[in-house]
Amino acid sequence: MEKAKAVSSYFGSMTFDQKVMRKKLPKEVFLALQKTIEAGNSLSEEIAGAVAHGMKEWAMENGATHYTHWFQPMTGATAEKHDAFLTMDKDGSPIERFSGGQLIQGEPDASSFPSGGMRTTFEARGYTAWDPTSPAFLMKGGKGLTLCIPTVFISYHGEALDEKTPLLRSMDAVSRSAIKLLNILGVEGVSRVNTYAGAEQEYFLVDKKFYSMRPDLVMSGRTLLGAMPPKGQQLEDHYFGSIPNRVLEFMQEVEEELYLLGIPAKTRHNEVAPHQFEIAPIFERANIAADHNLLVMEIMRRVAEKKGFALLMHEKPFAGINGSGKHNNWSIGTAEGINLLEPGDTPESNIQFLVFLVAVLKGVYKRGDVLRASIASIGNDHRLGANEAPPAVVTVFLGELLEKVLDAIESGKVDFATEKQVLNLGLAHLPILNKDYTDRNRTSPFAFTGNKFEFRAVGSSQPIAIPNMALNTLMAEAISELAGEIQAKIDAGADRDAAILEVLREEIKATRAVRYQGDNYSDDLQMAASDRGLPNLKNTPQAMRVLTVQSTRDMFNDFCVLSPEELDARLNTRLERYVKGIDIEVRTLQLMLKTFVIPNVSEYQGEIADSFNALVDASERIGVGSKALKSQGDHLKGLAESLSELIDLTAELDAVIARLEELGEGFDAADYCADVVLPTMERVRSVADRLEFMVDRSKWALPTYSEMLFEH
Ligand code: ADP
Ligand code: MG
Repeated sequence: MEKAKAVSSYFGSMTFDQKVMRKKLPKEVFLALQKTIEAGNSLSEEIAGAVAHGMKEWAMENGATHYTHWFQPMTGATAEKHDAFLTMDKDGSPIERFSGGQLIQGEPDASSFPSGGMRTTFEARGYTAWDPTSPAFLMKGGKGLTLCIPTVFISYHGEALDEKTPLLRSMDAVSRSAIKLLNILGVEGVSRVNTYAGAEQEYFLVDKKFYSMRPDLVMSGRTLLGAMPPKGQQLEDHYFGSIPNRVLEFMQEVEEELYLLGIPAKTRHNEVAPHQFEIAPIFERANIAADHNLLVMEIMRRVAEKKGFALLMHEKPFAGINGSGKHNNWSIGTAEGINLLEPGDTPESNIQFLVFLVAVLKGVYKRGDVLRASIASIGNDHRLGANEAPPAVVTVFLGELLEKVLDAIESGKVDFATEKQVLNLGLAHLPILNKDYTDRNRTSPFAFTGNKFEFRAVGSSQPIAIPNMALNTLMAEAISELAGEIQAKIDAGADRDAAILEVLREEIKATRAVRYQGDNYSDDLQMAASDRGLPNLKNTPQAMRVLTVQSTRDMFNDFCVLSPEELDARLNTRLERYVKGIDIEVRTLQLMLKTFVIPNVSEYQGEIADSFNALVDASERIGVGSKALKSQGDHLKGLAESLSELIDLTAELDAVIARLEELGEGFDAADYCADVVLPTMERVRSVADRLEFMVDRSKWALPTYSEMLFEH
């Protein structure tokens, strides 16, 4: 067996990282670039030329011929348009060139990307500009390598046409608010506060041969039909079981590709459902984590293809089997490396921790609906609210110990003014709050896990830029409000510690409703949600309406993350994608009924009918009595009745599709999808799935759940 190379020996070797920059750039350019990156600024024109030159040299030495500005349009995928380095010199001889202008500002034709109605097509010019905090990289593809430059994508008028720009703006907003709050807490000299994310990515792998025989998987990423096998995941024997060899090879190849690109993949394991797996990286700055998660998805897709697998990233590819999410681990910390959600070992650092913790409660309580809207999607609707996935209600789990601490503060048992009491309550020794004490509630959509929050309701296929952008913005608001409240008390003459404690007490009380320590999959949560007045937005159109609410719009605008126009563009694009996606699903289902299920069942019914007729003819001769004939007749009758029911439902589906066509792509259409189209599809499915268990397997053309999930 070939011995694997140490990962550290090649990690990041396909990226234009610090090591390469130091080698390829003049010293003053290198230093200026580092400063730009640390401050989170954009690249200045003065050094762009030198950086571009160094980048091109490095890319060409590695065999790249083309470059591309790699960006995240509002479609949820990534986009790239490749340009060759090649140009013609004045005298007509070929030469490779890559200028500063090309590095900091590309100019793609934006008309082919959704703008959510923000610009008319004749103005469809957009600019892409390098986000220097995210390193350029060389991507394999076809026979060669392409230099990919992670960029933001903005319109001619400066509006964000991508998901990256708002994410970066939201990170700036958090930084501004957090520095303000830290100053009030007496912490000076912090230049930048960052948010960090680590995305645990779940996915399914199924054999390519089954996948290509299922139009539903190919067209919509999920099975629209398929009866549950006798063995589902009841035994939970897959979780942390040994990883099948073929899958392990897939994982190893994925990891090698990721390491080359400097993506720190850390853990791999089986998940709860059969054929379901997870990959998790080490957390990074949120914008880089967002880029890297997209690359993880892209590389997994490519390697799966190569290995004869189909990668299913859908949130609910198989009904009745656990879906896939993307646990978005989130924290906030200073550029100097202090995690603000980490309890420290002094009362001061613990007060700081508690203030930021309470800011999270405040933000999630006030803007739970925005958080919910940020993860609404066609696929995630099948997961959220189902009984084994995070619910549509956003609550926060803190764990027993923190609950006690907050209760003690609320009831007035803690007084920061006297350090002794603080120590008595153990606040100076909060470090015992490690993960073992907190990560107990796997049903919570938003759980504190030691020194970070885990937002578990994010869908597996979603770019994490959107939920992180929402989370950062609501945090910027909550932190800023908290700072204002403390400052007001200080201005009114209170001493700082007393002011902090009073505000904490008020906020702990005010946000109590968002803390939920029980089972989030239970009916009790649904009741608690309505008792406590927490939003319970069941589907995408309901959740998207949050973006039309004035106070939501004000928040995004006030914190300079999304203007009302930019917000509408996202609302329109996401509604359109929801409606189009369901339109594709319902048409695919109809096609499967008409070209697979109905013909398959009819054929089998014909055989049974022939055999029944033959039996009737022979019954007297061979002495088959009326009771036996009735049983066989009933069997045929049952089949015929179910088939007729399915044929009638298919006609109903035709009518539903026709109606959907009339409704356009706005809220009316989206509501119709949620309230009529999907339930009709469910009714169709239950009949088709019943028939699947009545029909001879050799007549059923679609691969079954058992085959897809239990055969290797
Ligand atoms: P699990 O949730 O499976 O127990 P961990 O808690 O160790 O696993 O980590 C899960 C993910 O959380 C990883 O991607 C990890 O890098 C990330 N993570 C750990 N610490 C932080 C942090 N401070 N901020 C953001 N993400 C973090
Ligand atoms: Mg986790």
